[in-house]
Amino acid sequence: GQCANVCPVNSITEKSEVDTLKAAIADSEKLVIVSTSPSVRVSIGEGFGEDPGTFSEGKMVALLRALGFDIVLDTDFAADMTIVEEASELLSRVTKKSAPLPQFTSCCPAWVKFVETYYPDLLPNISSAKSPIGMQGPTIKSWYAKKQGIDPKTIMNVCLTPCTAKKFEIRREEMNSSATYWNEPSLRDMDLCITTRELIAWAKDAGIDYKELPESDFDSLMSEKSGAGVIFGATGGVMEAALRAAYEYLNNKPASKNLLQLSAVRGYEGIRTTSVQLTDSLAVRVAVIYGTANVRLFLEEQKLSDFDFIEVMTCPGGCIGGGGQPKHLETADDARKERIQGLYAKDAAMDEKVSTRNQELKDLYETFYGKPLSNLAEKLLHTSYHNRENDLGESAEKYRRLNEQKN
Ligand code: SF4
Repeated sequence: GQCANVCPVNSITEKSEVDTLKAAIADSEKLVIVSTSPSVRVSIGEGFGEDPGTFSEGKMVALLRALGFDIVLDTDFAADMTIVEEASELLSRVTKKSAPLPQFTSCCPAWVKFVETYYPDLLPNISSAKSPIGMQGPTIKSWYAKKQGIDPKTIMNVCLTPCTAKKFEIRREEMNSSATYWNEPSLRDMDLCITTRELIAWAKDAGIDYKELPESDFDSLMSEKSGAGVIFGATGGVMEAALRAAYEYLNNKPASKNLLQLSAVRGYEGIRTTSVQLTDSLAVRVAVIYGTANVRLFLEEQKLSDFDFIEVMTCPGGCIGGGGQPKHLETADDARKERIQGLYAKDAAMDEKVSTRNQELKDLYETFYGKPLSNLAEKLLHTSYHNRENDLGESAEKYRRLNEQKN
């Protein structure tokens, strides 16, 4: 409704969404599929007495099964998909001048909405690649449904996220590519979004003994991930993941160790900048920013033409610090750093660290999408943005003036 454009988060009460979900789980006609965001597995244990940053993937999957979800898939898989699309787009902007530089990341819906509202002139700079959740949804309701012989109308697609803004993102009008794909207007790509905190509260309410749950594995086809998909949840993770893939595309070989551990884009400062040599003749100038106050500061102090690629997340430390995560009032920064560490430690222990090497993802492209940026990929995995300046009402003119003065 109207309200969803203005106050998306507050207008949806936590209770009603979990109730809808419980009803769908109880409905034998519905196939309830959940996909889990990268950050949830390093924070969910905090709800049950584990330390922040504990890597609890197996327990998280077991908990979802215990609560009755039919199929558990991993949004880390789609994080790798976002990376192959977004890195391909970056290379197309850099080498073919297909769109303006710098390219900004697009996976944080709060950042996208911030640009739509306050800096609409920058919209052509936002990557057209959808977020991992935005790609997982239509891929489940098209390729996965076909492959498994499932009627997409019976699927309820749920995402488990650290993020309250994702509740708004999945309701964006254009997040209905599966409707176009099947010519079935009632389909939405993702039907429901619940947060880590909501899941913890639900599990406690249901009396589930988390500590006693035996670990469980994801279901197959859309759950494999590379280390790049894992680090997506940390500030700088999307940048590092994209640079690993871009390097591989340009050089046809894995990135060297110092590119796999890009210390300059890792860290906890709100603004980090560096330059990364991808080939002898090509360096990309990058920035990693979190928090909208830091974005404003960056836009005031830096010249955009000095950069090729910029990652922005609105939450402190990236999605691991999302608004739907367990809260630690006194020790918030410490908890966030532990969660970041939990993701990097997992990446370090993994064999495949580049999104292009994800075997399930390769199968998906070979049998369905073809190549990154193919026509079908553009249709299902890319999107466009709207100028929302008018949401500002009378202050729109003020912001326009301020932006003009700066330019
Ligand atoms: Fe959501 Fe925050 Fe991550 Fe943005 S940074 S996607 S608002 S959790």
